[in-house]
Amino acid sequence: MTAAIAEGLAELGKLAKRRPSLADSCATLRDILTAILSAPAVESPPCLDEIFCRDKLASGIPLLRGEKVTLDAPSFRHRWRAVCEAAARQNPGARGLADAFADPQHLFDEVLAGRPESVHEAADAVSIDPSMTATILRLTSFPVLAKVAADLEPSRRQASWEHGCCPTCGSWPLLGEFRGLEQLRFLRCGLCASEWGFPRLCCPFCGIRDHRELGYLHIEGEEARFRAATCNACMGYVKMASTLAALSPPQLLVAELATVHLDMAAAERGYLVV
Ligand SMILES: [Zn+2]
Ligand SMILES: [Zn+2]
Repeated sequence: MTAAIAEGLAELGKLAKRRPSLADSCATLRDILTAILSAPAVESPPCLDEIFCRDKLASGIPLLRGEKVTLDAPSFRHRWRAVCEAAARQNPGARGLADAFADPQHLFDEVLAGRPESVHEAADAVSIDPSMTATILRLTSFPVLAKVAADLEPSRRQASWEHGCCPTCGSWPLLGEFRGLEQLRFLRCGLCASEWGFPRLCCPFCGIRDHRELGYLHIEGEEARFRAATCNACMGYVKMASTLAALSPPQLLVAELATVHLDMAAAERGYLVV
């Protein structure tokens, strides 16, 4: 087990103690992290030359859009089943998902092609909860795309990126970080763990920079640690964590769970997950 996984699991243990109401979710996530991260992903990124990458990013197109990531099919299927099994602890419907999509590779291809709605349609067609399907697919894909994104990182740094979506895979951010003493803002992708710098006073979803439309939402006593950056123009929000250094991929998934109450607070006020 790598140090990053051990650290992520240790934080998960602390979270379960601090927030007993999340104990079951922490146990589920512990099983999922173990299932997806214990064996390193073996996939390689598509072969993209540096000039091509620079031009593509400069045109506002994420690096993996239109590219093929060839999966190691046996390990992907194995991980898919393991995540379904772990998720079934809290959501019995996840067991049916493993059988409904015994070969989930085509769902991965659709997400990478920028068509996440296809996953929702496919789940609807077999009467399985679409958002659960999307989450399990994201977690199954996470180690593959985190490795591919890390391998592509030098190419990605060839060009600046000022968009709200992920420069590597094109997903909307899972959350963001106010990092270090300077509290610089970074957004983080929940599909490939990429990070990219982003202005503090700007909505990642609609790009508005009007401070009258932008605000923060926090839970009493937690504002120094977690906040949600909200936008009244598009009603989108992104959760923000204050961090000393970049969250590792396992820590990113733990932070997602640790801030689940902000999702509820945002939903109560009419903000939407994009
Ligand atoms: Zn991404
Ligand atoms: Zn907005």
